[in-house]
Amino acid sequence: MNKITCKFGGTSLADASAILRAVDIIQANESRRFVVPSAPGKRSPDDKKITDLLLGWFHLLQDDLDPKQPMDIIEGRFVELAEALDSHLDVPAEIAAIAKGAADYAVSDYLVSRGEYLNGRLIAERLNADFVDPAEFIKFDFEGRLDPVTYEQLGERLSGDGLFVIPGFYGTDPDGRIKTFGRGGSDVTGAVVARASGSDLYENWTDVSGFRMTDPRIVPNARRIDEVTYAELRELAYMGASVLHDEAIFPIRDKRIPINIRNTHAPDDTGTMIVAEREATHPVCGIASRAGFSMINIEKTLMNREVGFGRRVLGVLEEFGINFEHMPTGIDTISLIVKDEELQHHADAVLEAIRVRCEPDKLSISKDIALIATVGQAMNHHIGVAGRLCVALAEAEVNIRVIDQGSSETNIIIGVHSDDLARAVNAIYTVFETWD
Ligand code: ASP
Repeated sequence: MNKITCKFGGTSLADASAILRAVDIIQANESRRFVVPSAPGKRSPDDKKITDLLLGWFHLLQDDLDPKQPMDIIEGRFVELAEALDSHLDVPAEIAAIAKGAADYAVSDYLVSRGEYLNGRLIAERLNADFVDPAEFIKFDFEGRLDPVTYEQLGERLSGDGLFVIPGFYGTDPDGRIKTFGRGGSDVTGAVVARASGSDLYENWTDVSGFRMTDPRIVPNARRIDEVTYAELRELAYMGASVLHDEAIFPIRDKRIPINIRNTHAPDDTGTMIVAEREATHPVCGIASRAGFSMINIEKTLMNREVGFGRRVLGVLEEFGINFEHMPTGIDTISLIVKDEELQHHADAVLEAIRVRCEPDKLSISKDIALIATVGQAMNHHIGVAGRLCVALAEAEVNIRVIDQGSSETNIIIGVHSDDLARAVNAIYTVFETWD
């Protein structure tokens, strides 16, 4: 029999009826043996996620203030859930134990992980499943990376028959202290559990039926992507396509375990499959975009003959601890595209250091740059992709500030002024939506 790990996101477990819907989904297929829940999310747009309330509790403690308000709300929500699910969990006693445990921690990890812990306990009881606390089996090293011993120990714990519930988001460091994967990290737990349990499939249940070809806030009816490779997904997620944590593919990539993004509100939708390889019929699978970049422009006559020029420019960024995203070059020009959050208040100092170290003829900085990544593995050796993209932008009267294509030919990045972003994405989407 196949084995499936299924992870449920916070919006899919926000209240008792959502949890019962997830229970139905789990029980509808007996291959669904490993269940990874998030903490309860928002029940309405102006509601609060349990994890955010726990974070509020932590900050109040830090400031020596009374955390009673978030504690009461959290307790109230779990009491309501426990009653609706006929659970025996003594919620007030659990909250009191958490308050005691929080005193040992100067960082937020312990407190914020308790939403997953309590939700996991409730769901395991409801399913009559074996509750597995990740504190015992998901191990981080001192650098905060997952210790590979996790796969062995967790794999052993998850062997044998039956149904297991493993809360998402956390594990422990080598000192046995609770540590989280960072926000949205239950997706990563799901991948770790899928690998450790030898699952054939990792289902990631959320509130949308998979990835869209582009951001639906820009193109409302953007079509769904049926299949995407890990590599394509990584490019799209890095460039702003949210739905899955961008590190969730690492634990399962080598084992080639597919991920299926599914919708708890439309369980019959097949969603998006994320696979190691695919037979691509269409050169472009997705268009992702992100605003918030600046471009440093450097011009110097005969730069092309000056050995070490590039190294000196990049040396300045290294000194300031700044990552760069792209470096388009001409014969006598180099541009560096940098995230605004990286550059922050260093911009003047960085320019000054480049001026002193590289003695350029001209040096400037362009702000409000947005990047658009047009991604697809079948773009490789497919003639005309960049051509059509440029024509589409010209027809939409969008000025391309910069264009970059890596040698893997799976991604064309263009930079435009942020004001042109939506127009540019619409134009690119329209030309590639149907083209094959
Ligand atoms: N509950 C955590 C968060 O809100 C982790 C997760 O849901 O993946 O970030």
